[in-house]
Amino acid sequence: MRLVEHFEQGLDAPICLTWELTYACNLECAHCLSSSGRRDPRELTTEQCEAVIDELQRMQVFYVNIGGGEPTIRPDFWHLLEYAVAHQVGVKFSTNGVRITPERARFLASTDYVDVQISLDGATAEVNDYVRGPGSFDTALLALQNLQDAGFRDAKISVVCTRQNIGQLDEFKAIADRYGATLRLTRLRPSGRGADVWDELHPLPEQQRELYDWLLAHGDGVLTGDSFFHLAAFGEALPGLNLCGAGRVVCLIDPVGDVYACPFAIHDQFHAGNLLTDGGFRQVWQTSPLFAELRSPQTGGACTKCAHYDACRGGCMAAKFFTGLPLDGPDPECVQGHSELALAGARTIPAASQDHSKATPTRNQPVMLKLMTRPPVSDCAESPLAGFVPDGG
Ligand code: SF4
Ligand code: SF4
Repeated sequence: MRLVEHFEQGLDAPICLTWELTYACNLECAHCLSSSGRRDPRELTTEQCEAVIDELQRMQVFYVNIGGGEPTIRPDFWHLLEYAVAHQVGVKFSTNGVRITPERARFLASTDYVDVQISLDGATAEVNDYVRGPGSFDTALLALQNLQDAGFRDAKISVVCTRQNIGQLDEFKAIADRYGATLRLTRLRPSGRGADVWDELHPLPEQQRELYDWLLAHGDGVLTGDSFFHLAAFGEALPGLNLCGAGRVVCLIDPVGDVYACPFAIHDQFHAGNLLTDGGFRQVWQTSPLFAELRSPQTGGACTKCAHYDACRGGCMAAKFFTGLPLDGPDPECVQGHSELALAGARTIPAASQDHSKATPTRNQPVMLKLMTRPPVSDCAESPLAGFVPDGG
């Protein structure tokens, strides 16, 4: 059996488990996939988190992606990190960098099995801070500097690709090289607050091509996870997991212990259970009816007629769901243009199941800044296809 077929049927334990430790965040990014901002009072206690780690160790989950919210603002974050590593669960954590002081950077440099991923959504402060909030570019770069000064090797720089930063791919790579880091590009999804900014920020069709060409040219030194397999419909496949792993090899534990099929699918429809009330994580992973369904053979729907189906497999389930498209049809960013009809027709965008956004503006009030401080020189400065009517191809 090919590896991909094993993956389609699901594994005994996830190979890409994300655990969001808190919904609290010092920032309030415009496209936050978990609509983070405020802590949920039901968030797991330190002891409950330790029990989760114990269970992951028993399941032989060798590493976990920790995120949030901003995980480092949990007072027990550093304890849980050490607890995980001591229990043979490696940690890769995502942070906006706010707590990566020189001292913490030295501690991180002294650990094994810990990887740090700094979020940066613009290669310039103007582009980054537009979505992530004032000062967040400087914070991220200071964190990278502290890590480098401390001798931490190969930090990751995690970039959500948007309409505004696709033109900065070379600059992102240069920043990564400057800090001895590796660039990780991910796809913007219309999940959480990402739904509110999707129409404005998701890359234009010609930018999808630009991104694809760039990844083909630079892909070896750049991480992408399963982000861009929908681009494989341009031709050659890209490195990475070329299928939707939701509930098969991917899942999310949220701060209150709810388990979802994927970090980008925080919605009742993709809720598999709760590890406090449904017998623990292993029980949810192995017996949830939702996961059984996701692991069963899928029909490709309208996509099965497409010559590129084997490469693209209809794209991302979460992107379809949160744009109100059928799950067995084309991705909203189908590079062959096959979602255009459905996008133009009647659709119901699902309401969010939860929202942890801050009720009142905060110090780092982000959403949205004013990006253009002066008008573009011409329409073409913003879009090379400005003024052209697409021919529907
Ligand atoms: S739903 Fe989308 S983001 Fe989640 S695993 Fe599937 S393809 Fe990846
Ligand atoms: S029609 Fe479906 S399989 Fe074909 S390229 Fe579009 S999303 Fe991919």
